[in-house]
Amino acid sequence: MDFSWTEEQIQFREKIVKFAQQELQSNLIDLDWREEFNRESWEKCGKFGLIGLPIPEHYGGTGTDILTTICALEALGYGCKDNGLIFAINAHIWAGEIPILTFGTEAQKQKYLPKLCSGEFIGAHGASEPEAGSDIYNLKTTAKIQGDKYILNGVKNWVTNGPVADLYIVFANVAPEKGKRGITGFIVEKDFAGVAINRKISKMGLRTTQLGELFLENCEVPSENRLGQEGSGLAIFNHSMEWERGFILASAIGTMERLLESCIQYARKRQQFGQSIGKFQLVSSKIVDMKMRLETARALLYKVGWLKNNKKTAIMEAAMAKLYISESWVQSCLDAIQIHGGYGYLTELELERELRDALGSKLYSGTSEIQYQIIAQFMGL
Ligand SMILES: Cc1cc2nc3c(=O)[nH]c(=O)nc-3n(C[C@H](O)[C@H](O)[C@H](O)COP(=O)(O)OP(=O)(O)OC[C@H]3O[C@@H](n4cnc5c(N)ncnc54)[C@H](O)[C@@H]3O)c2cc1C
Repeated sequence: MDFSWTEEQIQFREKIVKFAQQELQSNLIDLDWREEFNRESWEKCGKFGLIGLPIPEHYGGTGTDILTTICALEALGYGCKDNGLIFAINAHIWAGEIPILTFGTEAQKQKYLPKLCSGEFIGAHGASEPEAGSDIYNLKTTAKIQGDKYILNGVKNWVTNGPVADLYIVFANVAPEKGKRGITGFIVEKDFAGVAINRKISKMGLRTTQLGELFLENCEVPSENRLGQEGSGLAIFNHSMEWERGFILASAIGTMERLLESCIQYARKRQQFGQSIGKFQLVSSKIVDMKMRLETARALLYKVGWLKNNKKTAIMEAAMAKLYISESWVQSCLDAIQIHGGYGYLTELELERELRDALGSKLYSGTSEIQYQIIAQFMGL
């Protein structure tokens, strides 16, 4: 077993950290307050090649293997504080590009992937509905075939990137009487008749990612935009979730590393009772816990990366990584605030935003409770 990065991967990591630190430093406190998506930074990431990392070069990506993709996303999380921008990129890659790459026809791949990889197009994923959250197979959106097109009707109420997206991977049921075996995937362009994104939804964290509600009212989707076969939506959704859960929090490893470093620095510098606060065991043990969490989370992530690099199934491992990284990220944000004392509570220290951003990770791509359920099922419970 070899945990070391190659010289090339180390250099790639350094290049991304430098790019992120120099090019992606916007006035984030202000953007967060105004809930604004940073399109300029998105475009810079597109030019740099970060938006199409795991997509083959002949479809416009950089053809980066999955472990190196993880390394790159970790570097992005370390160098860039805009978790909202990073979340937008992750949603776009794992739930937008990967389903098209894996299940799309050659024509769909040629048509959509180059634009998605360059960042010209923003991708989004519409599965969740008002009555179908964790119980996603209970979705009510329908798709009826009519000549050479499908007519979709329904509402998707949690669409990350929704208000700025150019295309949506949407799940609808072509045969509700068959239950989940009727669920089918579609590629829906924002300009198709009957598509409306009705509002930007305000939220606690990740405020620089746009979240919207997608309305499909007699929406006309050409048959050639069906993703996979009729009834294969379940397999597409589960495949997307395996990839998304496995890697959507790779960047959070970099973020946790940055938080850890700032806590070490602060605990060394800040003096109370005539000594640095890092000398108090109740402070240093928090920092040790942050380090332990970081390294454990990293090991779980790399295991999923190794499995997928070797074309193996990683459903349980992806659920374990998602669960552990999200819970660790939240706890490490809480610890970082505590270590910084009253200053940690101030907006200008940017730790409260980190906490608000981190909390979302316990909910999207399946809540922590759902990850517990998946892991329990794999253990035969
Ligand atoms: C920031 C953010 C971005 C999102 N982006 C997208 C997106 O791009 N596309 C998309 O389709 N969806 C998206 N979602 C939706 C997300 O996938 C759902 O919020 C999530 O699956 C939970 O569904 P729900 O909110 O309806 O909660 P519910 O399913 O109603 O759950 C409520 C509570 O009950 C618990 N619960 C439910 N079932 C069980 C069970 N079987 N066992 C134990 N506990 C259970 C849950 O864990 C939770 O604590 C996003 C959500 C957030 C917060």
